[in-house]
Amino acid sequence: MRRTGFVYDERFLRHKTGPYHPEIPDRLVAGYKGIQEGALLEHLTLIPAVPARQKWIESVHHVAYILRFEEACLYGMTEFESPDNQMCQESYDIALLAVGGILAAVKAVMEGEIDNAFCPIRPPGHHAEIAKAMGFCYFNNIAIAARYLQQEFGVERVGIIDFDVHHGNGTQHIFEEDSSVFYYSIHEHPSFAFPGTGREFEKGANAGFGYTLNSPMLPGQGDDEFKMLIERDLIPAFGTFQPQVILASTGFDGHRDDEMSGINLSTECFSWIMERIMQMGDQYAKGRVISILEGGYSLARLPELIRNHVAILMGR
Ligand SMILES: [Zn+2]
Repeated sequence: MRRTGFVYDERFLRHKTGPYHPEIPDRLVAGYKGIQEGALLEHLTLIPAVPARQKWIESVHHVAYILRFEEACLYGMTEFESPDNQMCQESYDIALLAVGGILAAVKAVMEGEIDNAFCPIRPPGHHAEIAKAMGFCYFNNIAIAARYLQQEFGVERVGIIDFDVHHGNGTQHIFEEDSSVFYYSIHEHPSFAFPGTGREFEKGANAGFGYTLNSPMLPGQGDDEFKMLIERDLIPAFGTFQPQVILASTGFDGHRDDEMSGINLSTECFSWIMERIMQMGDQYAKGRVISILEGGYSLARLPELIRNHVAILMGR
């Protein structure tokens, strides 16, 4: 058994995106349902969220962008920079809270209070660029977590594994020239799917060349191709890089029942990738794995997917 942290705050449900948007509060409610059905709650360490300090948001995002987002919420705008980004008056505060919850989880792991953590937060983050909101994302949660690990705890090598079905364009761009953060993504490409980046030849730039790795999957592919690419690309890359902490951009939207992609992963495959990440966590990172929720929109599948995900973090 491992001590697993679980970032929990009901205010994540108050980021409202309107009636026609897939990124809705019910996604988290479905996850909580899975945790309860699995009788996991009593064995988790609940981590309350507090708003992140501005300095951590600024470790990734431009000040002018942060202010633009804050003002848009204050003025009651329901859309920010693109029709994808639907929001409400509270969204800025909740986005700060999401980052704050993640940083609290990172701190608890680094100080040894817990072994690992799951952060089911909203809004998600991996599409957010330094000065641009994209794809339901406002602050790049995982990028801020990586900067926090480096600046607050002196971690020299952070490994990010992004298995959301969409490419984490924001995360890739933020660390493109940085050899201290390895960004790995497996995602659908090409397709009608968002965001269009993440081709195999994108490997980072300048000092960061070789520290970005993309494994695109074709529409219609499933478990076999996913597992083959992870074994072929991610496993050797992390063996060389030896991350001291692993951050996961966890997206469940590659599930065959999720309408947001043409990728057909089974529920079992999501358990498989998490087991594989935990093995690497034990090998290189003293078990320090922090999983941060990105996408995943099948309300029917999220209970089992999140229950299994958390059970594996707990070592059950
Ligand atoms: Zn996604």
